[in-house]
Amino acid sequence: MKFGGTSVADAESVTRVVDILEPYYRDGNEVAVVVSAQRGVTDQLIAIAGELVNSQDSDAISPFITSLRARHRKVLDAVAPDYADETGMVLEDRLGSLENILHAVFNLREMTPRSRDYIITFGERLNAPVISAALCQRGIRSVVLDGCEAGIVTTPNHGEAMALPVSEANIRGRVLTLLSGCIPVIMGFMGCTEKGVVTTLGRSGSDYSAAVLGAGIDADEIWIWTDVDGIMTSDPRLIQDARVIPFISYLEVMELSFFGAKVMHPRSIEPALKKDIPVRVKNTFNPSHPGTAIIRGERCDSRVVKAITYIEKVASVNITGAQMIGRPGVAKAIFSSLADAEVNVMMISQGSSEANISLIIDETQLEDAMDALSPLAKQGVVREVTANKDVCAVAVVGSGMAGARGTGGRIFTALGNADINVMMISQGSSEVNISFVVSQVDGLRAVRILHDEFRLSEECNE
Ligand code: ASP
Ligand code: MG
Repeated sequence: MKFGGTSVADAESVTRVVDILEPYYRDGNEVAVVVSAQRGVTDQLIAIAGELVNSQDSDAISPFITSLRARHRKVLDAVAPDYADETGMVLEDRLGSLENILHAVFNLREMTPRSRDYIITFGERLNAPVISAALCQRGIRSVVLDGCEAGIVTTPNHGEAMALPVSEANIRGRVLTLLSGCIPVIMGFMGCTEKGVVTTLGRSGSDYSAAVLGAGIDADEIWIWTDVDGIMTSDPRLIQDARVIPFISYLEVMELSFFGAKVMHPRSIEPALKKDIPVRVKNTFNPSHPGTAIIRGERCDSRVVKAITYIEKVASVNITGAQMIGRPGVAKAIFSSLADAEVNVMMISQGSSEANISLIIDETQLEDAMDALSPLAKQGVVREVTANKDVCAVAVVGSGMAGARGTGGRIFTALGNADINVMMISQGSSEVNISFVVSQVDGLRAVRILHDEFRLSEECNE
């Protein structure tokens, strides 16, 4: 079971977490817990470390340490009074190290990706002992492991490290043996290289930690506890009658997360998918709700579409020129220029005339993309590169679409009837996703129309 930052933000929520864990444990289940940092702490660590590199003074360090101490002590004192001294010493020790490291960053005015990774794991390093102490307070034996101690060995790419296959045997050896009569609390978001250098697994990486650890111990299920009831048919802030999806496939979740749905990072699904372990998304604030189960097979629903996501902050880039026709290497030039500039391409479409390639990228990367592509126009590889920020992308996801005839027809007929102009369309060959681009002003309406068209607000008709 993994508990995210909002589930462990204060004494009240930590109590809720322990209330959830205790009955599962007492019923004889073996439970391993993965925790992330308290809400906002990772952001603060990233911010302060970044500022110190360019700062004139180190005045910010002391109040920062004081505020971290205060918020963790406050929770600790409330949830584990009998362990406050013992665990308090652990916290002091870690706060002392963090303070020293931050001073070093300031003095050196230098921060390598390696030191940055170590610094930003302190949210987890401070939080895990508190959660573990809260379990002890209830009479449950508990130990704390950092990601490295739990056996997660990663690639050396700091900030986005991936678990290596050797992790599996490591985890089995180190975590499995702890599960009887004890709840290990493992710090998410981190691992280490084969040489023992601390790495992080990317923002929100503790979901990935949970998946890697769950796969390592061959868990029956991986539960991701969060602050929503599950994965929804659409964003409930935009679509009032959006509904929790009871069952969804690994593939569908990956498609949804590629398109910005705040579910799980695709990489967090993979370890579970490989071992066919169901992943359950549940709400700490509403634990009796069944949540969403992410599974391999298809369950439920004669409806072909499961969910519709909407990404507002995107831009389209159009690359045109008759010289592109029949000429190998143009796509290569375009995409390698973008890759060199670290621009992430979300959607691609090319007409069969080949005279036009359109791309969708994150709006914040537009300037980088244009800088990367304009030399191609100067060199005559393409004629013109234009951009449009007033667009948004909509993705319609459902594995029932594969092989089902007429889904595209239904989507675009519904949009046409509503007088919405579609500027770009793309369908992957997995057929699990049809995505399209419309003008910004039409985006929300398009989502509403399709949510109704596919009756997504109705209960599933299993
Ligand atoms: N604490 C880390 C972050 O904020 C990891 C996580 O929350 O999953 O990105
Ligand atoms: Mg998170």
